Amino acid sequence: MKIARTIEEFRALRRELPGPVGLFPTLGALHEGHLALIERARGENASVVTSLFVNPTQFGPNEDFSLYPRDEERDCRLFREAGVNLVFVPSLEEMYPAGFDVTVRVGGVTERLEGERRPGHFDGVATIVAKIFTVTQPDRAYFGEKDGQQLLVIRKLVRDLNLPVEIVACPTVRDPDGLALSSRNAYLSPEEREQALSLSRGLRLATKAFADGERGADALRRIARREIEAQSLSDIDYVALADAETLAEVEGEVTRPALLLVAVRFGKTRLIDNARLTVD
Ligand code: AMP
Repeated sequence: MKIARTIEEFRALRRELPGPVGLFPTLGALHEGHLALIERARGENASVVTSLFVNPTQFGPNEDFSLYPRDEERDCRLFREAGVNLVFVPSLEEMYPAGFDVTVRVGGVTERLEGERRPGHFDGVATIVAKIFTVTQPDRAYFGEKDGQQLLVIRKLVRDLNLPVEIVACPTVRDPDGLALSSRNAYLSPEEREQALSLSRGLRLATKAFADGERGADALRRIARREIEAQSLSDIDYVALADAETLAEVEGEVTRPALLLVAVRFGKTRLIDNARLTVD
């Protein structure tokens, strides 16, 4: 496995890789969820490249940019063990040199939920992903359904800019007890972690009710919310049931594919999770 720290270095090494090339971009602090995406990329491509970069522009001023867990040595060891061919580990200056002044802004699907609560977050995501695509030139790029809204933003970015890359969505990987794996889970105290299981429980209960025939959007939101609200340490940011394509909130009955999305704080840690409701 080779490690490139500059765009020039990366491009030279990238040219030698047999295609198709699969990309897995990450902030790092790797867990099994990340590794599942890499494994998928390995199975579907001749070469796998990753980018490892804690992108400051997608963090708000009061968010955890400086605290975000960083361990390049461990992440690179795991990349190597997972069979990654080439890693792009740029510095801040490499990605945002003096005078850098472009923002890629995706409309529509960015307006609500995470976009509303985290102003500028998706501008940061879209801009860095566009840059990373330009540098790495992948045939396919792998993203997790765990970040459901982000996936819609990336799809829109690729569609509207005609970027020549196929976006591959990968299912959310969970701990055996249901908690969606996240680098931020490391911040949780044992008690917070226990209570955080209510996210996946709430989503599961609502999904089950949906499978059993419940179509009322209010009722489905209520089922998930009740489970999470019952936890003494939970502070709900939103429980939303939104159209799976436009992310518009569903009123009345669910008649098209929808996403049930939750964002909840436990102490200082903000967790997100979602489940897909598919109409037959
Ligand atoms: P991150 O570096 O944690 O922002 O995530 C990098 C990629 O991994 C994103 O596409 C995430 O959606 C994906 N990812 C993170 N956690 C999970 C998980 N538990 N299951 C599947 N994909 C995940």
